[in-house]
Amino acid sequence: MVDTSRMNSEAYQVLKKKFGRVMVENSNEYRVCCPKCESRAHKKDVKFKLYINPYKVSKNGKRGTWNCFRCSYKGWGLDTLGVQTTSESALPSREEAPAGSRTLNIFHETKKLKTTSEEKSGEGREEQEVKLPTKFSTEWSSSLTGRACYEYLVKQRGLSVSTITDYNIGFCSKGRYAGHIVFPITDQNNKLIYFVTRSIYEKTYFNCPGPNSHVFFNYKNQEHIVLTEGIFDALAVGTDGVALLGKILKKQQFKILKNSPPKYLTVFLDADAFKDANTIAEKLESYVQHIRIAAPPRDKDPGNLSKAELNDILEDAWYLK
Ligand SMILES: [Zn+2]
Repeated sequence: MVDTSRMNSEAYQVLKKKFGRVMVENSNEYRVCCPKCESRAHKKDVKFKLYINPYKVSKNGKRGTWNCFRCSYKGWGLDTLGVQTTSESALPSREEAPAGSRTLNIFHETKKLKTTSEEKSGEGREEQEVKLPTKFSTEWSSSLTGRACYEYLVKQRGLSVSTITDYNIGFCSKGRYAGHIVFPITDQNNKLIYFVTRSIYEKTYFNCPGPNSHVFFNYKNQEHIVLTEGIFDALAVGTDGVALLGKILKKQQFKILKNSPPKYLTVFLDADAFKDANTIAEKLESYVQHIRIAAPPRDKDPGNLSKAELNDILEDAWYLK
């Protein structure tokens, strides 16, 4: 699917010069290892988590934008990223970007810029209707892909049939999300606000288009929340499991918990995210009455633990002070 001739493009060459290894993601985007993950997320990125679209132009004329899926490092202007363009015309402008180009829609900076003042004044985000992928299906037995997706959830991820149904988890056998499990994300009123997909063949996730700093998986204003990184972790915890979709508590997520704090909150990130867990707990400690931190053993993520192991660890959670 990837057009290898694009490896000869100017954009590829200048990115390669700066980052060494560059992956061609699709006709508009490249991926490199994020230079900021180590300082921002306490883990060196070796999985090309920084997505770069060198063609997109900001309102004030900055060319190129980027977004790190792990540490949320994002911004505008290739020069800010330290990429040296050889000349003014080294990269095509947006208008000249490859015809018929398809984007992942991960760059929503223009929308964000528009809503910044609203966010500051405490107003909500721009209302935007979220729709599931057109090929979304829960008819698992209707296709080979469906059956493979179901098997992946039950056998590899240990999900129960009722969990799959309760959370309206589905899949796509065709289109952009072919071979992906789709997790619809709803708010407290069961309104669809987002979705995340995960390939059953490789560790690839896609996010739904649109802003996501307000999105938690399975946030229902619970009295007790166990805050996890990923969806599978939250599902393993059960009804109290709420996923951050990352290691960091984003601005709007923080606001939600601050304005409507649960009585009990346990921060339960992966073992490698101990510092992040502490940061989150410290941020929330003046709002949440009982805040604790739990950590899985070094070699396991919360999503890979048995129910008994999970209960043990959550019982052993400790208070900040
Ligand atoms: Zn990063």
